[in-house]
Amino acid sequence: MATIFKPKKHIHHSLAQRLRDLSMNMWWTWNPEAQALFNELSPLLWRYSNHSAVEVMSDISDEELESRLRDHEFSRRVHHVIEEFDSYMAEPSTWAKSHASALKNPIAYFSAEFGIHESLPIYSGGLGILSGDHTKSASDLGLHFIGIGLFYRRGYFQQHINADGWQEELYPANNPDHLPMELVLQPEGGRLLNSVEIGHSTVYFQTWAVHVGRVMLYLLDTNLPENDQHFQELTATVYGGNIDTRIGQEIVLGIGGARLLQALGITPAVYHMNEGHSAFLVLELLKNELETGKSLEEAERAVRSKCVFTTHTPVQAGHDRFNSELLTYALGRFWNSFGLSHEELMSYGRVHPAEKNELFTMTVLAIKMSRAANGVSELHGHVSREMWKELFQDKPVEQVPIGYITNGIHTPGWATAHAHDFWNKRLGIDWTDKLMEPKFWKKIADNELATDEELWALRYSLRRDLVDYARRQKFIQLGGTSLASSHILSPDALTIGFARRFATYKRAPLVFRHLEKIIPLFTDPKRPLQIIFAGKAHPHDHEGKRFIQRIIEISHRSELNGKVIFLENYDINVARHLISGADVWLNTPRRPFEASGTSGMKITIHGGVNLSIMDGWWREGYNGNNGWSIGDDHHVNDLESQDELDFESLVQILSGSVIPEFYDRDDRGIPHAWIKRIRNAMQTLLSQFSSDRMLGEYVQKYYSI
Ligand SMILES: *Cc1c(COP(=O)(O)O)cnc(C)c1O
Repeated sequence: MATIFKPKKHIHHSLAQRLRDLSMNMWWTWNPEAQALFNELSPLLWRYSNHSAVEVMSDISDEELESRLRDHEFSRRVHHVIEEFDSYMAEPSTWAKSHASALKNPIAYFSAEFGIHESLPIYSGGLGILSGDHTKSASDLGLHFIGIGLFYRRGYFQQHINADGWQEELYPANNPDHLPMELVLQPEGGRLLNSVEIGHSTVYFQTWAVHVGRVMLYLLDTNLPENDQHFQELTATVYGGNIDTRIGQEIVLGIGGARLLQALGITPAVYHMNEGHSAFLVLELLKNELETGKSLEEAERAVRSKCVFTTHTPVQAGHDRFNSELLTYALGRFWNSFGLSHEELMSYGRVHPAEKNELFTMTVLAIKMSRAANGVSELHGHVSREMWKELFQDKPVEQVPIGYITNGIHTPGWATAHAHDFWNKRLGIDWTDKLMEPKFWKKIADNELATDEELWALRYSLRRDLVDYARRQKFIQLGGTSLASSHILSPDALTIGFARRFATYKRAPLVFRHLEKIIPLFTDPKRPLQIIFAGKAHPHDHEGKRFIQRIIEISHRSELNGKVIFLENYDINVARHLISGADVWLNTPRRPFEASGTSGMKITIHGGVNLSIMDGWWREGYNGNNGWSIGDDHHVNDLESQDELDFESLVQILSGSVIPEFYDRDDRGIPHAWIKRIRNAMQTLLSQFSSDRMLGEYVQKYYSI
């Protein structure tokens, strides 16, 4: 049995060593005071390493660190942060105290990506962000929880836009020594090696451990000299390579992840498959059950009793499917050990087991072998029941056992330092523990907590931070021509943010569908509008790249100069600037393809308001006064007409409501109606769309038996 990480005993460690240790626990990513310390130690490195505490700490010598700590003020602050960290780690949360009996054994949460922080670039988009937020809330609530993912040495790509406005992808390698993770070792020393069978090969993987507050995230990595060259590259990039890479990664994640837990002596109460990528794990569990002498039926029942599954994809093409030959090749050796025929095994991934041509679908495998499944918003639950109703032919569609839990975000992690400061002063520093209490946020609607002037000052400073950041980034791109960057954007103008993956269903260019109708809104000298875009297109998504190019072309039009900006390389850091600085968060997905969406949830704590299609979470969040809806709750079948209707609705809301309300000021420059809308959004959205609420629901509906 291998060593499981235990919290280190710190008693004899110097303050310097404690600070080094702290850089290895991602707790600092949701504590602004801790971040400020790392920033101050080396502001340049902090910025250029994309806020990597580990890089800052590995660059600073012991001597220098000791001398910095001789500054009393600095050392006092370090002490304070360490104390906060220690009490976070030592004390069970209020939530854990009241749920102590619920979960003795851990929840094992499998996900192909985890977006914990920009300095650990092993995520591509919303799924990873959600997994990261789920993990952080598990730590905050004190849930017994373990994350399982892959370590992608080259991460997702870094985006560069060339002179033609075309996205180019760069894949710089991450150095594990400069990442907040450590190798899992065997008790007798030496790294822990596990393996899976892929094709005729045995593929070994090592495991990295990331401390995320109180919980542990394990990342599997095949980059080992023991493996053939191409298997060394298997886990190199997020969703990279071809279908062989995909199935190989999924074997490592699912089967390898289950084997890792066994090697660590961990017996999970629940295996939670976050999306179908990890679903092969049920086959490993099935094999283990069969080996104990159970009949197939008993073994299936035993597996099902331990597994839950969350689906995120309302698009058929978004579900992983493998053909029979590929499965035979990739899983052949593993399957042979089952004593089941090839067709019997294929049937686990088929809606119609007898259909010899039907592909093997990971989602089908996951649904068939879970005791419960869910979508990630009310509408998405409905869409998913429709999608998979054929698996339950004895049931009417409304009884298909796929429920829903609407996503949420880890608010303390998304709140900028500025926002933390603002709320600390008004709510007390433990406000992050009370996110779920609606009465807490009711005070903001009653004007008890902050005046309109104070809220407006918060908005102003966050918007100015975003404008400064965008100018700096443009400045870097333009090779330091400050003339060119200083005239872009205005810190006073109504600022729309639009940032997400450039999947075509998200319709990034919709706002520019008819330029003659939208340009006048941008060029009104008295009531100017500006918009900032960011987002990556998948490397194989030519259409998505065309969308980026079109937006960049439009941004070059002389009348829009400096008012339409595309920021390169969307990641958690770029996102944090945008979701805090934007006044309005625009979301224009084609219904019902936005399963939930989460970026719009991140703006509320900063006083932003949503302007969105009634899809995913916003369909539940919108109440008529806490933002705006584009279009209505109806669905038109013809895509062109839908685009036209949604564009018309968008222009009408912008010109008829959003812009006038933003610029309707009293004699001191305060837009009271706008601020009322902000207050309403805070009151109605913050507790509901937090990942603490989400996780509580998972515990109640899916994790507890
Ligand atoms: C929040 C976030 C997402 C998910 O946003 P959606 O609204 O679901 O599109 C994707 N990428 C990053 C970097 C994010 O911060």
